[in-house]
This record gives sequence, structure tokens and C-alpha cells, in this order.
Amino acid sequence: MPTVIVNKRGEDRIESGHPWIYRSDVAEVRAEAGDIVRVSGPRNRVLGEALFSDRSQIAVRMLTRGEAKADEALLRRRLEQAIAFREALKIEGSAYRLIHGEADLLPSLVVDRYGDYLVLQALSQGMDTLTPRIVALLAEVLAPKGILARNDPRVRLLEGLEQKVEVLHGEVPATIEVTEGRVHYAVDPFHGQKTGLFLDQRENRTAAANYASGRLLDTFSYNGGFALALAPQCDEVIAIDISEDAVARIRSNAERNGLNNVQARAMNVFDELRELERRGEQFDTIVLDPPAFAKNKASVPKALSGYKEINLRGLKLLKPGGYLVTCSCSYNVGESAFADVIASAAADARVDVTVVEKRMQARDHPVLMTVPETYYLKCFILRKLG
Ligand code: SAH
Repeated sequence: MPTVIVNKRGEDRIESGHPWIYRSDVAEVRAEAGDIVRVSGPRNRVLGEALFSDRSQIAVRMLTRGEAKADEALLRRRLEQAIAFREALKIEGSAYRLIHGEADLLPSLVVDRYGDYLVLQALSQGMDTLTPRIVALLAEVLAPKGILARNDPRVRLLEGLEQKVEVLHGEVPATIEVTEGRVHYAVDPFHGQKTGLFLDQRENRTAAANYASGRLLDTFSYNGGFALALAPQCDEVIAIDISEDAVARIRSNAERNGLNNVQARAMNVFDELRELERRGEQFDTIVLDPPAFAKNKASVPKALSGYKEINLRGLKLLKPGGYLVTCSCSYNVGESAFADVIASAAADARVDVTVVEKRMQARDHPVLMTVPETYYLKCFILRKLG
């Protein structure tokens, strides 16, 4: 069997419950790109079996610990457990995450369900090698009408893998109709962001709907996730996204749901917040859900100033008694750093703000306790006093 020997630091990391070993902690490799390998420590203790990458900084992703084999039965068990967990969540909707990589002990694998179809991402060499077996198991266990590989994320380039989108099983239509709570969406699984929708915000949308009222400003709206979920509670909704395509989808999704109080604008949120402030506009509810401003450690300072700016302007545009739903999906900006930014925005805006709810990514995107990287989405629901 192909083998990788890690140094003491690599061994300690595995013991600490983290499944990744960096290239710098690998002592010896007797394996090819994408192999399933046996991992041993510096004194030949068998640590488990893993996915191996000869390109990524993350050279090893553990699948098992100790003597357990990463065989067909293990893959099947992991898939079935992940699926059974989602069934137990009784999610109100037909689109949700079935497999969330590390947190389902299937590192670098994402599988989302959109109605009768599955959309998969294999984000490492090893998972790419396993894809045909994963597809066969998913087809057997779930009998979907089709499985699409959305293997176009840029991280695949770091693995030396091709970026490609292809149907791996059955047929997949250009548009899939799904529901999330009471909202109906038309999803484009081939071109939509991520696998089509931002499924990780589902529960935050439901939570936000408990506070929404009056005039709502939904910024970075994409296909209208928050706008459409909150619109029934509001008089007037303004949804903003920089992408014309996203804005066209907000409009068609609003129509599909018979929501005639939603206006969608294709604009840059930074410019529009400034303009709304200049015009003296006020809102009862504001959602800030930007893309990850900090994609890596180097971009953290710039990201913090971006978060500060939108939160500062958001707080100024909010009526006293109004609610701000503010999110960050940057793993590199932790919960406390994000809270600090919001506090500093509140101080600069000279407003008093209370935290009504502190939330995270939806339960179908679980956080693995020993892997901080799996806690990426922070969402605070705040109330402006006064
Ligand atoms: N709130 C959405 C998800 C947001 S994803 C939901 O619940 O589904 C981030 C969105 O921000 C993307 O659609 C992207 O097009 C948009 N975006 C990125 N930079 C922007 C900017 N400067 N101004 C407006 N929209 C922007």
C-alpha cells in the first residue's frame, strides 16, 4: 500500500484531532498523486489512512485513525451517516447540504441536494480519484435523477486538477426548482455561485424573518436569499447586488413567489450605502451578507476595514429600534475579530447596539470541533437602541 511518513509535528497534529498534515510535516512519501495512503509516525506507528496530494500545501487528509481501513464499507458508512443526519434535521426545503467535507469525515468532498438532483465538488486529488466510487454510492443510496460535478472552484488548481463542470450520472437540467421554507427558487446548478445557492444561510434567513419589518435593505443579495425570505414581513424591500445576472434572478424569483414589494438594483453596495446615507434614507431592517473579504491571511487588514465600513454605514442607515443582520463568511476573520469590528463601527456611529442572536452556518454545514477551518460563517442579529 502507498505510504506517507510524517514527522513528530504531523503526528501531534493528527493526535489533536486535525485531519490535515502540511507538506512541511511530511518526512517521506512512497505514493502517487491522489493515492489513498497509509500514514505512519516517525517511529513507524500506524496513524491511519488518508488522501494524499503531491501538489497542495495540505499533503495529507486523514480518512481513518489507527488501524481502520479506508475501504468501500467505510465510504458507504460515512455517506449513509451524513445523509441520515440531514434527514434527522427535518429541514424545511428541498435544497440542502448532504456532505460537508471534513465535518462529515469525508475531507474535501461537498455534496448538495437540489430536489431530485445532486451537485458534487471534489476539492483534492484524493477525492477526485474517489469520485467515481462516491458517485456510484450516491446513485445507489439516493437514486437521484442526476449528479453534476461543479468542479470549477479555483482551489482545484492548487491541487493540479482541472476546473470542469460535468454531468456524472443521469441528466441534469439547466434549471432546477427548489424550495427553502416558503420560498420557491429556480436554481442554475451549472453556473450559479458555489453549487447554485448559498445554502449555509438558510437558518439565518429564518431567524432574521422573526425580526424583519417595515423597510428592508438586503445588501449582497445574490438570488435574493434574505430579501425573499423576509419580504412577507416587510412593506418595502430593496435588494442590491453588483451582478446583473443575480439581480435578474432576484426579480424572477420575487415574481415566482408573488412578492410585489421587492425592488432589485444592480449596484456596488459600497457606493449605494454612501448614496442612501447622503439622501438621508432610513431602514427598519438591514442585511449585510458580503462575500468573504478575507480569502487568506494577507488580506485580513483590508477585509476588516471593508467590514467596518459597511457595518458603520449600515448602523447609520438603521432606524432606532431596527435590526441589523450582519454576516462574515471569512474563515480568516474569527468570531471575536468580527465582533470587535462591529463594536468599533457602533462606537464610531455613536449608537448603542445589543446582540439579539449570535448565529453561524446552518446545521447541515456542521463545524468539526477540532478543525477551526470548518467554522467560517458568523452572523449577528443586532438591535439598534435609542
Ligand atoms: N446574501 C446572499 C449571498 C451573498 S453572496 C444569499 O443569502 O444568498 C455575495 C454576493 O455579493 C454575490 O452575489 C456577489 O455578486 C455580491 N457582491 C460582491 N461584491 C459586491 C459589491 N461590491 N456590491 C454589491 N454586490 C457585491
